[in-house]
Amino acid sequence: MLLEIRNIRVHYDKIEAVKGVSLQLGKGEIVTLIGANGAGKTSILKAISGLVRPSAGEILYDGADITRRSPSDIVARGISHVPEGRRMFKLMSVQDNLRLGAYLIRDSKVIAEGLAWVYEHFPILKQKCNQLAGQLSGGQQQMVAIGRAMMARPRVILMDEPSLGLAPIIVDEIAAIITTLKQSGLSIVLVEQNAHLALKLADRGFVLETGSVTLSGKSADLLGNPEVIRAYLGA
Ligand code: ATP
Repeated sequence: MLLEIRNIRVHYDKIEAVKGVSLQLGKGEIVTLIGANGAGKTSILKAISGLVRPSAGEILYDGADITRRSPSDIVARGISHVPEGRRMFKLMSVQDNLRLGAYLIRDSKVIAEGLAWVYEHFPILKQKCNQLAGQLSGGQQQMVAIGRAMMARPRVILMDEPSLGLAPIIVDEIAAIITTLKQSGLSIVLVEQNAHLALKLADRGFVLETGSVTLSGKSADLLGNPEVIRAYLGA
């Protein structure tokens, strides 16, 4: 497994947001975490990327224990985070936002290759590269957020609610982008409220309820699971 989370717990003071969660991500795989608001999905992503420190458990990446590494060390090792809400620097240009994703890369040729990759996959961002990021639509801002993560040359992408607040037609575009990332060999942990979309894209899924995994398995099986259908697929 490329990424393995073993029994992690996350506390915010006395609140235990993640109560002993284990999951694994294989190379080239998409794994999704689904669950209601507050189930602990974002906290798990933040624990992987070093933004919160788990109170127990281990996170192994590519054979190394990264549980207590700094966020920049974790990015440098190949794990990039696309945060919930895109987190643009709205008063900076699209291109400057993208360049921020490469802040650990010194080689200007590598940065230029990264920008070329982003502009090839998101032609609209090339057209708008000098505009302020805050002037873009929600879907375009999501593309900047994904492009910015790609600028760090990751092997793993952690994606938090990429479809949030986007019109259905734009959600389809973002779904196609996620599929392209997988086809290019990336491994992805996808957090989504839109369980149907997430399970269509992912190979495997984990259902989270109040900080614990209550169900997991192949996406196709979860899509047909009556409990998942009742609680998350709105049937
Ligand atoms: P959402 O979709 O709303 O982001 P989530 O499944 O990602 O939900 P988390 O954001 O991980 O859930 O939150 C899990 C629990 O931890 C919630 O009860 C939340 O209120 C709490 N929590 C999250 N961040 C903090 C924080 N910085 N301080 C205190 N409590 C927090």
